[in-house]
Amino acid sequence: MKRLLVQLIIIFVPFIAIAGISEQDARTLIQQAKKLYPSAEFVVDEKDPLVVASADIVGEKQQKQVTLSRALLNSPRMSKDGLRLTICHELGHLFGGAPRRNIPMDWPGPMAEDGKSLTSSEGEADYYAPSCLKDWFAKVTILNNSEYDVHSTDYQQAYKVCTEHGFTVAAMQDHCVRSLLAAKNFLTLVADFQVDIRGHDPEVVPQTIIDMYPSRQCRMDTLRARTLCPDPHEKQWDFVMDKKSDCTQIVGQRPACWYQSKAK
Ligand SMILES: [Zn+2]
Repeated sequence: MKRLLVQLIIIFVPFIAIAGISEQDARTLIQQAKKLYPSAEFVVDEKDPLVVASADIVGEKQQKQVTLSRALLNSPRMSKDGLRLTICHELGHLFGGAPRRNIPMDWPGPMAEDGKSLTSSEGEADYYAPSCLKDWFAKVTILNNSEYDVHSTDYQQAYKVCTEHGFTVAAMQDHCVRSLLAAKNFLTLVADFQVDIRGHDPEVVPQTIIDMYPSRQCRMDTLRARTLCPDPHEKQWDFVMDKKSDCTQIVGQRPACWYQSKAK
């Protein structure tokens, strides 16, 4: 019996390890993103061995470009909603507006008239992503995505957060739960970092974090906040006034672990 159990484990482990999404699914999702954001270009870097995605403003025409590495698309840890959210995060750098990054020293590329970068900070890209994802779900995606184990701790936690915040109507609840699970997938794409869907980073920053990543839990807090924001999605957020894209309800506002509205 013991031997049988060991054999079963050996047989099943590879199946778990080679989860991830098919090439066709990745292609379909990129096509969907292109339909939602026709002004952006989507490039797959076939050669980059790293699991990375980036957002750039390219050339004289200031073309908005999202680049996804083949290694990212092939990652066995990637879920379909995780890829959607990853793309939405990169779109957030391009469409999320203020707060924007600072320009590195001797930067040869394009910059905004105010001397700052044309792209949004990491915290802001995170904040934009669930709004973009909600729009994506509403326009393109069918309900009840079957890629989730409803008995998993993460699913149960996400479900609890969403129902506690009044997401009880089927479609809204489905989108809310999937957005939180996508957030967890996005933040643990390269390793099992400690990220709690219901957790809270208690730090209060004296100034908005502009040029660095907030902590992973803080990023989860940001992704959860915007997931819980009931406001409709607007594609282009204000370039200068970050307050204009803040959620109208407190539960959905940028968390203090990276954002400080008083300091500019
Ligand atoms: Zn980013």
